[in-house]
Amino acid sequence: MSFHMTPDEFRKQGHAAIEWVARYMEEVEKYPVLSQVKPGDIRAQLPVSPPEHGESLDDLLRDMDQIVMPGITHWQSPDFFAYFPANTSGPSIIGDLLSAGLNVQGMMWINSPALTEIEAHMMDWLVELLDLPERFSSRGDGGGVIEDSGSSSTLCALIAARERATDLASNHKGCDGNLVAYGSTQTHSHLEKDIRVAGIGSDNLRSVGVDETYAMRADLLEEAIQADLAAGRKPFLVVATIGTTSSNAFDPLPAIGEICQRYGLWMHVDGAMCGTAAVVPEYRWVNKGLELADSYVFNPHKWMFTGFDCSAFFVAERASLVNALSILPEYLRNEATASGAVIDYRDWQVPLGRRFRALKLWCVMRHYGVEGLRFHVRRHVALAQEFKHWVLEHPDFVLAAPAPLNLVCFRHKAGDEATQAIMDRVNASGRMFLSHTKLDDRLVMRMSIGQAQTEARHVRAAWEMLTEAAEAVTE
Ligand code: PLP
Repeated sequence: MSFHMTPDEFRKQGHAAIEWVARYMEEVEKYPVLSQVKPGDIRAQLPVSPPEHGESLDDLLRDMDQIVMPGITHWQSPDFFAYFPANTSGPSIIGDLLSAGLNVQGMMWINSPALTEIEAHMMDWLVELLDLPERFSSRGDGGGVIEDSGSSSTLCALIAARERATDLASNHKGCDGNLVAYGSTQTHSHLEKDIRVAGIGSDNLRSVGVDETYAMRADLLEEAIQADLAAGRKPFLVVATIGTTSSNAFDPLPAIGEICQRYGLWMHVDGAMCGTAAVVPEYRWVNKGLELADSYVFNPHKWMFTGFDCSAFFVAERASLVNALSILPEYLRNEATASGAVIDYRDWQVPLGRRFRALKLWCVMRHYGVEGLRFHVRRHVALAQEFKHWVLEHPDFVLAAPAPLNLVCFRHKAGDEATQAIMDRVNASGRMFLSHTKLDDRLVMRMSIGQAQTEARHVRAAWEMLTEAAEAVTE
């Protein structure tokens, strides 16, 4: 007895699992969007110890229905409007399945040349798809890599910037505590985490003030840099955002890039969700100034029908990244690496090993084609713009930030208490889910539109629920 699952058993159980996922896709709308369980409810249903004897996967699929499903918040529901879409799709799931089946470790080119070459090619496809600056293509000095998250991508950018600024001395001697980085008051919190991980220290991160659209003020950035220089510090990195989390603001890349060039700072651009908008020619304004960036990240796992994890990270000069992260022990030496003719992605990320993530991106781009991706991004933006107009026309709701794309931030005129009560009410209904933030110390609801199955009727129903809740809580 081998205990292994035979290929034939796998075929049978695998078909059942695919059937389970297909049924989930068909029925996702019927579940309460936000899981209603209490802490510990799910765990209490699991046996204390692992099974002594192997069990049938039929039993596992039954437990998926009975134990797991009540504890799921349905990110793929068409009524999910919280955080960011994190949408997936049939082709992405199939790509991940193929990748799981091969289960190769793509540390270096030699470990599976197809993994590396398809990934490098997919990243060049993204450069063309989004009309990114040619300097991010692997045809020149740059190139792209798939990281597990935006946070990891920014961390790699930060380390490359740190090493460029210190001629690789920080890698060897540690940080001298003098390095300073800049974001805005609206920059996503992952930057501060990365700053800590990289040993720069939170006190050496400046949060530059923003304008009335919540975009970074380039004049204040320059003032902050000058003040740090005058104090004998060493500015090395600016992180600009296209599509901030709390306000969907767009930092002025051309002005920030010009300052970075003048003072010799690395410019990293975080395009987390909204980078995808550039698939549509009329939204390519999001890329304005990107040609001045040293690195760029956007997450296909947010708004490009590609399941988590798939963060697309580009550098203009791959040597800076590789020099900062490469360590070559004897046991990894090989002829292909020594020849210099191949990419070894282990030098572009923190972990050594890596999954064949490019397969899902390949499946997605081949299934939708450019026209399919454009169609859905246009559709999501149109739905969000319609929602924005309803907010603008409503006497009791206030638009909290300009909302140029698929994220609408708004609040109730009566103040935080009313806004909170409305949000609690609609989220408790299980029929929709949206999340919140604070802007200028005021509570704001975020309506983020981008689920694969979200249609006009879902957005209309959400608006009706919100207006009914507003009437009920302010009666
Ligand atoms: N940047 C922005 C603007 C975000 O909104 C987020 C996540 O919401 C991130 C970065 C972090 O993304 P990840 O979860 O891929 O690290």
